[in-house]
Amino acid sequence: MSRFWSPVVHRLSPYTPGEQPKRENLVKLNTNENPYGPSPRVAEAIRGELGDGLRLYPDPAASLLRQAAADYYGLKPQQVFAGNGSDEVLAHTFCALFQHDRPLLFPDITYSFYPVYCRLYGIDYETVALAWDFDLLVDDYRRPNGGIIFPNPNAPTGRLLSLDDIERLLRSNTESVVVVDEAYIDFGGESAVSLIDRYPNLLVIQTFSKSRALAGMRIGLALGDEQLIDGLERVKDSFNSYPMDRLAIVAAVAALEDEAYFRETCQRVIDSRQQLATDLRNLGFEVLPSFANFLFVRHSEHDAAELAAALREHGVIVRHFNQPRVDQHLRITVGTPEENREFLKALGQVL
Ligand SMILES: *Cc1c(COP(=O)(O)O)cnc(C)c1O
Repeated sequence: MSRFWSPVVHRLSPYTPGEQPKRENLVKLNTNENPYGPSPRVAEAIRGELGDGLRLYPDPAASLLRQAAADYYGLKPQQVFAGNGSDEVLAHTFCALFQHDRPLLFPDITYSFYPVYCRLYGIDYETVALAWDFDLLVDDYRRPNGGIIFPNPNAPTGRLLSLDDIERLLRSNTESVVVVDEAYIDFGGESAVSLIDRYPNLLVIQTFSKSRALAGMRIGLALGDEQLIDGLERVKDSFNSYPMDRLAIVAAVAALEDEAYFRETCQRVIDSRQQLATDLRNLGFEVLPSFANFLFVRHSEHDAAELAAALREHGVIVRHFNQPRVDQHLRITVGTPEENREFLKALGQVL
């Protein structure tokens, strides 16, 4: 604490990201990174962009990427916003599109960055309890609100909401913005992008960090009605006109262009997820059905925090959330088949 801090800093409660260990040779299953690298075309595109051109500012509108993403999703470029990771896109969304006179609604168990942005921007929020099985009940969101946000699939549970449910929510909630954070949608879910033309209050947020294996580049998108995107642009241009650097723009375009690689690596993760779920059930874990690149599991006879600590001793890191309702669960990122085997071996020794 410092007397030089502004009042804003005093009210913050910052997000704690999952550990990025300095030690190599750990099996890192704690932050939902993709176990496979990005498309080889990404490195090629970045190499092509290196050179004297870097002395020039990038295109503030990231037009190349907006056009590529628009083509990819069947939208207009004016329906696409690009930012420095979806966390930044989310931050701008909280600032630009949530009303401040009524509370923002999100699930009690969800991405823990949402309450952090509420603090930053002075937005009131109410959490809505998930069902006993962590199902999101859309009818519970029928109440006055200044906006609604949830990840689909949800994090850290991996549970998927159907497009029918999302549409039911949108039909009953027309007066505030509904944000669907699709960080994990490519691992088996169906995107709500197809609803954008019918619901002007729907904003879909996507990231290149998970399914496109570019967490290190920081690339996120928002997809929605032109006026929502315009609101985001206004905030962006009041904060940083150049969130996407030249390398990130060409990297993102290259990743979108390599559909075959994208599909193949997503499918590999999905296959490994099924195998890992089976193996964990055989070791006595309860495993929630997951549509993401992680599993949310618990063991009735072992304390989750102790398990996570013991696994770390054996060179494997997984994520534990010290939070009511889920403090006996662990979130385990799906790794390569080899990483998953090492994890299971360590787990066998620990149990
Ligand atoms: C990983 C994640 C993000 C952040 O993605 P970045 O683009 O890397 O900032 C956003 N929302 C959820 C639910 C996530 O899991």
